[in-house]
Formats: sequence, C-alpha cells, structure tokens
Amino acid sequence: METHYRKKDLLGIEELSRGEIEHILEIAKSFREVNERAIKKVPTLRGKTIVSLFYEPSTRTKMSFEIAAKRLSADTYSISTTTSSMVKGETFLDTIKNLEAMKPDVFIIRHSQSGIPHRIASITPVSVINAGDGQHEHPSQALLDLLTVLDHRGSVEGLELLIVGDVLHSRVARSNIWAFTKMGAKVTLCGPPTLLPLNTLEKLFYGTQVKVTYDLDGAIPEADVLMVLRLQLERQKLSFFPSLREYSLLYGINSRRLQRAKKDLIVMHPGPINRGVELSSDVIDGARSVILDQVTNGVSVRMAILYILAQRGSEL
Ligand code: ASP
Repeated sequence: METHYRKKDLLGIEELSRGEIEHILEIAKSFREVNERAIKKVPTLRGKTIVSLFYEPSTRTKMSFEIAAKRLSADTYSISTTTSSMVKGETFLDTIKNLEAMKPDVFIIRHSQSGIPHRIASITPVSVINAGDGQHEHPSQALLDLLTVLDHRGSVEGLELLIVGDVLHSRVARSNIWAFTKMGAKVTLCGPPTLLPLNTLEKLFYGTQVKVTYDLDGAIPEADVLMVLRLQLERQKLSFFPSLREYSLLYGINSRRLQRAKKDLIVMHPGPINRGVELSSDVIDGARSVILDQVTNGVSVRMAILYILAQRGSEL
C-alpha cells in the first residue's frame, strides 16, 4: 500500500490508498500554521504556474484553491466558460493543449461532465486536480471533510457517518463514501428512494461498509457525523420528488429532528446551502454545525494538494 502520494494527478478518492489520504492530511495540518500568521505567505511554490478552468459555478472551491496557491507564492491564472475561446467553438482538448504549450505546472478543472479531468490527465504531462466533475467525484471536498471530522472526533475509525439527501447526483457523497470507508468509518445513506438508487449504489460500493435507509428519524440517533447534501437541481432531469416543501418536510434537517441525536453529533454541509430546504437556520448556525470549519480546512487541504503535485520532479 502506498504511504506517500506520488501520483501525477488528484482525480478521485476511489483510486487512493488510506496511506495516500493520510499523507495529504498530514501535510494539510502542517500548513495550518501559515494560515494563522499575520502575513500568510510562504515561498514554497515560487515560480510554479497554476491554471484553473472552472466550467461550472463555484465559490468555495475556486476561491480556496486560489487562496491556497497564492499563500504558497505560486502564480495563478483562471479561465471560465464565458471568457475562454470555447465560446468560439474550440474544443476542451484543444484548449488544454494550447494552455499546456505555455508550460503550467498544474491544471485545476471543474466540469459538468463526469470523467473530463481523467481524460485531460491522460493526454497532458501537466498535473490535473479534479475540482468536481459532474456527479462523479470531488476529492478535495472529501479530504477537507475528513480533516474536519478528525479535528472534532480525533479519529474516523468506527464512526457512523450519515449522509442525507440527493446522493444520486452528488459527487461530494461519492468522494466521501470512498474517503470515510477507506479510513474505517461506517456510512449510511438516507434520502427519498428516487435519489437513492439501491441497485446502482450497491454495485458501486460493493464490499464497502455502506448501508442504505429511507428512515431518517430512525437513522439519526445512531450517527456520529451528519452530512447534509444540497439538492442538485441543476442535474435533475426528472421530477424526483413532488415539491421542495415536501422534500423539506420529509428529509430536511432541523433542531427538532436532532433531539434524539447523540450529544456530540456534528453537522456538515459542503455548501452552497439552500437555507430552509435541506437544513434549517437553527442547525446551520447552531452549536453542532462545523460547516465553517470545513471551509477553513479547505484552504490547508488545497495547499497540501498543490504542494504535493506542483513539487513533483522538483528538488524538495
Ligand atoms: N460545492 C459542492 C460541489 O461542487 C456541493 C454542491 O454544489 O452542492 O459539488
């Protein structure tokens, strides 16, 4: 089993070993101190060039990769759908080949199509980071989620993670299922049957510690960590539930629902939150919420990912 991260790219959690995950998290912890300084900058990646290509909206991921890169002194550039020549008909692969000719060290890619970062990684020597591909994976999110749980619970081994909501369309759920099961947690998925396709999930996560339930109130008392997902309305081509109000009544998390939860249950959400739909304000802003800790950890985790990938081939 690999104990150090030596891959060219970070495309998903599925293909990582526990040792590789732990390596990234250890480096993330070591960067925390930089983020607490008055002057938040170290020369570690001076002279390295990082290009972000975000073809889907993003606030947290885009900003925290950018902040992470700048705190490490890398030069950062970004392209979005509306400003690139793709609007003039250039294909994504041609765009990548042209950018590659400018000798960057890392591409950070978000795209609505699952698998695009993998395809790009296979045709370029530049390191590729998957910043979210369709409904497939969002590895940096899962790594920052692991770090947040480690901060609050000390270890992930044996914990019960309950993921609630739109599992079908969620790349966050997929990456986290891999991440938490590899680290020894048990995962339960809960949501309306239309958003939790048993056959698909059982095949996908066969052999892992993943359970599925439709009974939210029955699952909450068992959980140590509750991860609430956003309804991915932009990916839902069918009507998966009658109305947002009904979804919220049946699967929305509020403090009344959490009355039977363990005292130290923590509540997570990857953002952006639909306030009042999947999570009520009293929980978002309440004592159990670690949602902003997730955001803070995002910077250190992304510093670690950029550090590991951009340093490849250089003298350490
Ligand atoms: N920000 C996360 C993502 O890009 C979660 C979400 O959008 O609901 O997948």
